[in-house]
Formats: sequence, structure tokens, C-alpha cells
Amino acid sequence: MLNLWRIADAAADYIFIDNQKIAFTLPKGLQIITPYNQWAENKLENSFPVICLKHFLAEKHVHPSLNFVLVDCYSKGSKDYELIDQLSEKKNVVLCLSSHNTNAMQSVRRMCIALQKKNISHPIVFVTNSNWQTADEHLIHFATETGALYLEGFGYGIWLGMSEQAYSDFSKAENHLSGRQYADSNGGAETFLNNTAFSILQATRTRISKTEYISCPSCGRTLFELQETTQKIRTVTSHLKGVKIAIMGCIVNGPGEMADADFGYVGSGPGKITLYKGKEVVKRNIDSAVAVDELINLLKENNAWVEPSAQPTE
Ligand code: SF4
Repeated sequence: MLNLWRIADAAADYIFIDNQKIAFTLPKGLQIITPYNQWAENKLENSFPVICLKHFLAEKHVHPSLNFVLVDCYSKGSKDYELIDQLSEKKNVVLCLSSHNTNAMQSVRRMCIALQKKNISHPIVFVTNSNWQTADEHLIHFATETGALYLEGFGYGIWLGMSEQAYSDFSKAENHLSGRQYADSNGGAETFLNNTAFSILQATRTRISKTEYISCPSCGRTLFELQETTQKIRTVTSHLKGVKIAIMGCIVNGPGEMADADFGYVGSGPGKITLYKGKEVVKRNIDSAVAVDELINLLKENNAWVEPSAQPTE
């Protein structure tokens, strides 16, 4: 699953297909990446090859405009670093960086810096696979392997995957849950990978695709049912791409903790809510029964609201 350029807010822009036939019509704009041999054999419309660096440099018949070139970043025995100078003259390349090293992120970062120093400025995609088992373990792995790199400004795309065993373990674990969190033909793994990729891109401000919520952890000072209220607010605002809403349990510490939120919903007394625009109080001590509606009004007054039906369909 690769997210590189935009076709829709939370849909992958390219899919990787490894020796499989596509049994459905691809959504308009979605493009395919296939292993080089498969690409060379079939030359499907809207398909591009993925090819290792050594093979790419030796191959005469590559795609005229776009090739995804796999670069192994300093894994034991890899000679890719010695070959990267030859990329400087190429015009049709996206680099897909990965490493088998235990500290893969550091190795990939080292390669990014080496490319910078050599003025090789092809777009970079980070390729990360996970062999962990649970959703939380995968999440931590993907976030630590790629997140730090985006925060430093490296990278144009994200390509997340799981080993075969991890796919199967993930599906089994999901089946044991009473209500599945992720559902698709691969036991939920692809939906999970897609969500995780967009969450990492959003958290690092690389690509904004959804509403962002900041919520306090709640404590003895919390003045309303935090989880229930957060869910209520999410239900009515989750289509507002790029808006940051804070939901804080009390006015003692809430405003200080809601950082750079665009709007704040803060408990200011039993059954009372104060609404903020940035750090400024705009509606004080309103009844909690109407506070969510008032929040929507506030969003409207500040041109931060669109009707759910006005969202572009994917
Ligand atoms: S914002 Fe208030 S209610 Fe929430 S955790 Fe902080 S002190 Fe507790």
C-alpha cells in the first residue's frame, strides 16, 4: 500500500500488485506498481515497475517516465550506496528506501543525508515492513520507523507492508475481537495499513486528510463524560479535513494543554462548557446540552464548517 500523490483524501494513490490479476475495475486515478518482470511482460495501462537499483542501472528497457527503484540502505552486504552516484543523471526515478538493519530508521536516514550531500533529489518513499503481531505493535513499529524521518522533512511517500506471517496473525487476532476494527478481504490488514499510513502522514503534517482531535486524559477535575462527549463531537465533525479540535475536561488546565488547536471545547463547571477559538474564549459557560450545536455554529461562523453531504465522493 503506497501513498505518494493524491487521488482522494484517505485512499492510496498506488497499489502494489505482486503476480496477481486484478479482478475489479480500478478507481479512476489509482495506479499500479508491479515487479519489473511482470510490468515488462504485461505493460498494463497505468502500471509502473518496481526494480532494485542494480537491475535498474543495468536494464535498457525501463519505464520512460516513472520507475520505483528499491535502494537497500546499508544492510549487511548491500553495495547500493556505491551505486547511488549513477542516479544523478536519471530523470524517471522515485527512490524506495528500506533497510534490513535492526535500526532501520537510522540507516534510511543516513542514506537520505548521503543523497542530499550528493545533490540527488529524486522523490523518496519509505518502505517499511512489519513482522509484529498485534495492531498496537505494528502501529509503534511503523510510526517509529517512518515518523521521525517525515518530521525531519525527508520523504514524499509511504509504503507499509507486513510479512505473510504477520498478515495471517493480524487477521486471527482481529477475528478474536468481539467487534472487528478493520474489515477487508485480507482480514483487515489492508484497511489497517491504509489508516496507519494516513495517520502517520497527518501526525507529521506531511499530508492532512482528516479532522484532528486533542483530548485530555481526564482526571479528578474532569467536568463531563470525556469519552462520550469526544465521540459525540467526532461523529459530527469527522469530515472536516484539517480542522484541529480540543476537548478538555476542565478550565483549570485545559486551555494551557490544548496547544495549537483551532477550536476548544472545555468544561467550565458542572453542566457548563466554554468554547474557544484558538486561545480566545468565544462562548462562556453555555449549557452542555447545547454545547455541541454551539460548537458547530462556531465552526460555521469561522468558515471552518462544510456540510457532510458537500464532501467530494471517492
Ligand atoms: S485538562 Fe483538566 S480535566 Fe483534563 S486532565 Fe488536565 S486537569 Fe484533568
